[in-house]
Amino acid sequence: MKSQEVVKMNEKYIMNTYGRIPLVLVKGRGTRVWDAEGKEYLDFVSGLAVNSLGHCHPRVVKAIWSQADTLMHVSNLYHIEPQVRLAKILVENSCADKVFFCNSGAEANEGAIKLARKYAKENYGADKYEIITAKRSFHGRTLATITATGQAKFQQGFEPLPAGFKYVPFNDLEALEQAIGPHTCAVMLEPIQGEGGVYPANKEYLQGVAELCRKNNLLLIFDEVQCGLGRTGSFLAYQRYRVEPDIITLAKALGSGFPIGAVMAKEHAAKAFKPGDHASTFGGNPLACAAALAAVQVLLEEGVIDNARLMGEYFKAELTRLAEKHQRVEEVRGAGLMIGVELDGPGQEVVSRCQEQGLLINCVGGNVLRFLPPLIVSEKEINTAVDILDKALGG
Ligand SMILES: *Cc1c(COP(=O)(O)O)cnc(C)c1O
Repeated sequence: MKSQEVVKMNEKYIMNTYGRIPLVLVKGRGTRVWDAEGKEYLDFVSGLAVNSLGHCHPRVVKAIWSQADTLMHVSNLYHIEPQVRLAKILVENSCADKVFFCNSGAEANEGAIKLARKYAKENYGADKYEIITAKRSFHGRTLATITATGQAKFQQGFEPLPAGFKYVPFNDLEALEQAIGPHTCAVMLEPIQGEGGVYPANKEYLQGVAELCRKNNLLLIFDEVQCGLGRTGSFLAYQRYRVEPDIITLAKALGSGFPIGAVMAKEHAAKAFKPGDHASTFGGNPLACAAALAAVQVLLEEGVIDNARLMGEYFKAELTRLAEKHQRVEEVRGAGLMIGVELDGPGQEVVSRCQEQGLLINCVGGNVLRFLPPLIVSEKEINTAVDILDKALGG
């Protein structure tokens, strides 16, 4: 089909929730994607931090083929090998002891919220239910997770919202300390805020938060749906901060393109879930787990995380160099290959000009260009992207 035709059918048959740009993608390999007319793009969006290993990584493709031909789905009434193998590798590479599998980031955060409430009620009484989250955060699009999200624009029109959430400014320890009250049961944060505009937490802040949680018997939940799984140069983002959360949520990059999410927890928290407390029909099915197992193995075995760290440093230095040249750039920030370039005005036009020149990036919060290249990206590809961005910013 021609691009025009797909765009027209989209308008006729698809609910208008995304405000899509008129670009139809048909094929991907490694760091590249192609549109319906055969034009090639360097993909620095990576399906929004999903395609960390690039498109169609051969080991992931092979795992999906082989599992699809053996057993795709059986329900969680039965034991399956790919699920326990995936849980084992996640536990062995984190501070968590147990895993629950689901299908998306929002669903993982819903599970984390339920687990935190159940844990608090069992251990500290019925009036412990409140979860403190950060302003500018993003935790998903279900009713509970838009409420956890500290941005009014995601909530408007969907009231009444579930009770029991409170918001504090990010990176402000004093504000958090003051917000803790008799009903508080948990604190939920992204170690690096993604959708809110790429804001990394300060080290002293996260360490202070962990200390406050310990003192007040609160569970600490890290939403690593975007920043986890190698993106920031360590397997999980919190590992660079020397703090340990009680609960971690994952999704985006977990299946390197195959939809899967996870709630991970330390034993004391995990055991609050008893049979019947939580479930998901598709959660952790054989096909999803086989894909994710291959993806995590590649991540850990093929030097991908080291590459993310090294290329992240290089990319950030190059972008900082560009920032000195272009007045419009206010700040370059981020960690590893999760980088934001804040402009002094709207960024969508820059995104469009990059696209014309064959580079896909996106824009968050209206004025922050976000770069989420595949973690297998090379120095040469970063140079290409920087040259295109240089031109798109006006010379
Ligand atoms: C994308 C994202 C989510 C939501 O994930 P979905 O799979 O879209 O439900 C939650 N938290 C963070 C930090 C995210 O970036």
